[in-house]
Amino acid sequence: MPIGPPQRKPAGGESSTLRADPKCSILTAAVASDSTQAVHLDSTAFINGSRKSLFGLDAGLLAEVMKEMGQPAWRARQLADALYRQWIEELPLVSTLPLNLRDRLADEGWQVGRPKIAQVFRSADGTERYLVQGQGATDTVEAVWMPEGDDGEAGDGSEDENRPWRRATICVSSQVGCAVNCRFCLTAKLGLQRNLSAGEIAGQVIAVLARHAVEVGRDRLNLVFMGMGEPFLNYDNFMAAVRLLVNEAGLSPRRMTVSTSGIVPGIERFAQEPPEVRPKLAISLNAPNNAVRSDVMPINRKWPIEAVVDAVRGVKLRPRERITFEYVLLGGVTDRPEHAAEVARLVRRSGLPAKVNLIAWNPGPGIGYATPEPGTVEAFRQALIAAGVPAYLRKPRGRDIYAACGQLKRTVEG
Ligand code: SAH
Ligand code: SF4
Repeated sequence: MPIGPPQRKPAGGESSTLRADPKCSILTAAVASDSTQAVHLDSTAFINGSRKSLFGLDAGLLAEVMKEMGQPAWRARQLADALYRQWIEELPLVSTLPLNLRDRLADEGWQVGRPKIAQVFRSADGTERYLVQGQGATDTVEAVWMPEGDDGEAGDGSEDENRPWRRATICVSSQVGCAVNCRFCLTAKLGLQRNLSAGEIAGQVIAVLARHAVEVGRDRLNLVFMGMGEPFLNYDNFMAAVRLLVNEAGLSPRRMTVSTSGIVPGIERFAQEPPEVRPKLAISLNAPNNAVRSDVMPINRKWPIEAVVDAVRGVKLRPRERITFEYVLLGGVTDRPEHAAEVARLVRRSGLPAKVNLIAWNPGPGIGYATPEPGTVEAFRQALIAAGVPAYLRKPRGRDIYAACGQLKRTVEG
């Protein structure tokens, strides 16, 4: 069910230790939506027909905006801090800029333009699903907040009754809908509607950080690119969002994970990213062999398991970093003991430092699979562990509000 406005004040002000994020956008700055095009400042590009968004521009582009206005380069740094570290949402509130400069920016059609949370659904388990208003678009995108309760006193003075979580995960979307067409996933039913811009991807993160007054650098926050869409089919915008979040907002790429259904050219590009901005990698394996995988994930016919694993071998891992194989357990289809043995063999033969994240299938209307019994899931996990493969179980979060993995489809009737 939709719930009301945020209960916590957005972080802001000079005392905040958080970093804010970027947004993309572009008015004058048009970010290519899905290709290798460079970002250009182009005063003919408008958001919402008439306004130009600063959010989404990185420090270099903000410097160009400032330069065009005859301002020194350090003004761009102030602006980037306001957008991505203080999370200021309105131009008049950017108090580090002189009033006349704020007025001039507004006169020239600039606005902050950060995506806003339009609707909130809250689960009994504390998970929240958001519909976030995109930039210059009338549709919404989905993001999810998953707080973890604390198991007792933290002992570091950080207890706070208004902050009933010790760590949290934010899950964001990279596209509206998805073209990949996995048979078990509700998002697939939408088809691909559009790619999100870098500002729309990073903007989901900042909007959620602000809603929960997260303190970047202090709070344990993980970010997963596992919402709607296939990030590696919107590669440039996805990575531009990561760079904004790391370079401008101060988030750590070691606490970010991107999940792909196995888009080999995307994995190959990802392998070339510098470690300072490369998130961790998760591969949606979801089946014990190519025959079953091609049934449940038709993309496997284009890039079968061996091709995916080969591409993953090209990613130079940081010390102690592991590849995650995600594995959705579909009752009777991928959850048998013999499947566990095959998965264990496959992972061990890959030679990759890896772990397996098991996810019991989350049901969706019109999808004909079954959720396995908890005992079956645990037996599968134990079989992997016994075969020497680290395996974890992902708890379903927010199933009641359609926030769980594979359930994102802008289901307004939560
Ligand atoms: N497109 C990317 C990332 C988004 S999907 C990908 O497929 O990896 C994120 C994860 O949710 C994937 O591992 C996917 O296999 C899983 N998933 C999709 N539908 C699901 C469902 N109904 N129940 C459980 N997990 C699901
Ligand atoms: Fe797309 Fe991922 Fe869903 Fe497959 S599981 S349809 S790749 S969002």
